[in-house]
Amino acid sequence: MLSTTLIHVCPHCQGQRLYKNGHTVRGAQRAKCKDCQRTFTLAPRGPRHSPALKKQVLSAYQDRMSLRGIHRTFGVCYQTVMKWLGEKSRTASRLRGHVAALPGGRRA
Ligand SMILES: [Zn+2]
Repeated sequence: MLSTTLIHVCPHCQGQRLYKNGHTVRGAQRAKCKDCQRTFTLAPRGPRHSPALKKQVLSAYQDRMSLRGIHRTFGVCYQTVMKWLGEKSRTASRLRGHVAALPGGRRA
């Protein structure tokens, strides 16, 4: 028989005095640290879509591919694409604000 033992530690303070503290909406075990009183998910899932796929999808959207077409081709839901577009536009507006703040009122 082959068995493994997994020791969880607090991601915030590396403390080992943890106790179970319910589940996430998706059913993953949550834990609370007795040392720093912070809560966290024991084995969090990573992002569902890879950064490479995200880049590919955003590129397809910029090439005027429809959201339904993106869903058919890449299997990414239109709401996810809209969320990614929101993130991208927020980053772009932050960059525009940075450019506008150059000394002397110059634009880059
Ligand atoms: Zn802790």
